[in-house]
Amino acid sequence: MIRGYEVVIGLEVHAELNTATKIYCSCKNSFGLEVNTQVCPICMGMPGTLPTLNEKVVEYAIKMGHALNCGINRISKQDRKNYFYPDLPKSYQISQSDIPLCHDGYLDVVMGNDVKRVGIERIHIEEDAGKLLHSDKFDGSLVDFNRCGVPLIEIVSKPDMRSSDEAKAYLETIRSILKYIDISDCKMQEGSIRCDVNVSVHKPGEPFGTRCEMKNVNSFSAVVRGIDYEANRQIDVIEAGGKVEQETRRWNDAKGESETLRSKEDAQDYRYFPEPDLLTIVVPQEKVQYLKDTLPELPNAKIMRYIKDCGLSYSDASMIVDVPEKSKLFDDCMAIGCKSPKIISNWILGEISKLMNDGINLFETPLTPEKLVKIADYISSGKISTASGKIVFDAVMQSDADIDKVIEEKSLAQVSDTNELESLAKKVISENEKSVTDYKNGKTNALGYLVGQCMKASKGKANPGIMKEIVLKLLQ
Ligand code: ADP
Ligand code: MG
Ligand code: ZN
Repeated sequence: MIRGYEVVIGLEVHAELNTATKIYCSCKNSFGLEVNTQVCPICMGMPGTLPTLNEKVVEYAIKMGHALNCGINRISKQDRKNYFYPDLPKSYQISQSDIPLCHDGYLDVVMGNDVKRVGIERIHIEEDAGKLLHSDKFDGSLVDFNRCGVPLIEIVSKPDMRSSDEAKAYLETIRSILKYIDISDCKMQEGSIRCDVNVSVHKPGEPFGTRCEMKNVNSFSAVVRGIDYEANRQIDVIEAGGKVEQETRRWNDAKGESETLRSKEDAQDYRYFPEPDLLTIVVPQEKVQYLKDTLPELPNAKIMRYIKDCGLSYSDASMIVDVPEKSKLFDDCMAIGCKSPKIISNWILGEISKLMNDGINLFETPLTPEKLVKIADYISSGKISTASGKIVFDAVMQSDADIDKVIEEKSLAQVSDTNELESLAKKVISENEKSVTDYKNGKTNALGYLVGQCMKASKGKANPGIMKEIVLKLLQ
């Protein structure tokens, strides 16, 4: 709710698929190559050429459909969406209008302790357009056609979100799923996920208001800013006695405001018609089922499993799941019977995240799940301290050192022998009579001091848990 109005949001997400080749030709589908080198007569829209649908694109879209609980249209068609723009050499985009591949699904978005269900209207496949280049180095604009014919899916939500936070959480969940089912690179800064934002406002209990569609929203944080700005703008219009007009607006993130791109009167008529150069798409039922059966565990299910079966907190679980490599490492550790998931999670979110941020590829280091589990289990059983664990970890990372050897050579093993620790504690207690009296007079922090002295006397090698128990026992 903003200023007594309910905000209604629907999102159209475009995701570039990471297939090897483009959607209708065999040009390479990859980002960042020399301009106008990944092109052929088909994706350049030359007259007389014919498109051939890339089967992988259909498979990827159906996978996403399953992940979003959609119905799959085994029979669907492709349509031409006609418009003129310099980045579109054919002057039409092949898309799907009335019969998309996937329809009527939903996505459960976990938000803290709540789950928000967002309806999915449809998912369809289409081709991307080229890219206009503007620069001070030349007059006018140039066009890079490498992106023409890059496959896209468009995921259209129902108008089910009620705040910018919900919209952001929805987008994050969509991105996470795309990564896990490995159909998109999900790099917003490279434009591999783009989003159109539809916003309307109304008083609770009244029918939905007129929506505006905002384009050019290029980051998840811009989505939040854009929605909040747009909702307030519409409320201002209504409060001033005006009427919100249906229009397409452009979000200007630098200015922090949206501006009119075109009004309803200028709305384009795309003159959709069935694409005559392509056959009807027919997907066998067995294939639809196969794609469903081979879907990997999805991020939400993973988060729930980490909380329920491994005892992680929601925030730790979601931070691990957010990065597939981290989640894989965690899963591999659990699969070999790790008894200390919390320690593994701390390692992954601490040391290992640091290394990954430095650009290190985990799977190219000597660290294996077996080694990580061994270190973690040694820490949890008290054989080595957490601090020693870090020394062992570094040795493994640097030179693939043998864990037991490092512990022995650097004498890192904690002393857990109670006799040895007890005689040490007795000595410390006899030398610190004042603290003992303090403790007996109720100054509980004297205990910490005594244990600290014992640890020092052991040169840090005493098992702190056992040490504390012994000191307590002796004091009593
Ligand atoms: P268009 O071609 O006009 O963009 P789409 O069907 O592709 O139409 O997308 C419509 C989007 O607008 C959907 O995401 C839908 O949820 C959203 N939407 C529909 N009605 C409203 C509304 N009253 N307020 C906000 N969003 C809405
Ligand atoms: Mg739209
Ligand atoms: Zn091509």
